[in-house]
Amino acid sequence: MTVQTILKIKGDAIFTASPTQTLAQVAQLLSEKGIGAVVVTGIDKNVLGILSERDIVRAIAKGGAGVLDESVARHMTSKVVTSTMSTSIAKVMELMTVGKFRHVPIVEGGTLIGIVSIGDVVKKRLADIELESHALKQYIAMA
Ligand code: AMP
Repeated sequence: MTVQTILKIKGDAIFTASPTQTLAQVAQLLSEKGIGAVVVTGIDKNVLGILSERDIVRAIAKGGAGVLDESVARHMTSKVVTSTMSTSIAKVMELMTVGKFRHVPIVEGGTLIGIVSIGDVVKKRLADIELESHALKQYIAMA
């Protein structure tokens, strides 16, 4: 099972930010959309970084509420781990576990095409487990 299955279900809505936006603007977007991270992109939809709620909390803890006026570029993670549509869901889970993050942008040919969160992965795994359990129960009932 690949990332493509998840993107088909959740769609390809991606919330992005530009490096010049402020942390306050991103905090507003995260809150409005009920999401945990934005991908920071350039003009060609190329990935420049990622900024999650954790980065904002860390910045405030370190520098006080004044940091909310600082730029995304200053606080984003620039070395972003990405996957493609054909990456397996198991691999994405491994990347999240090893890297200790909850979001993986999906990139094809240098262009951002989606994002998979830990919530998406858990939702898909639960749906699969329920399906398997249902199939097994039917099989046992027939035996
Ligand atoms: P998260 O768990 O996704 O809220 O992110 C925790 C930390 O990892 C933050 O500093 C993020 O900027 C960073 N981060 C999130 N996703 C990725 C990713 N795919 N690659 C590299 N760093 C990431």
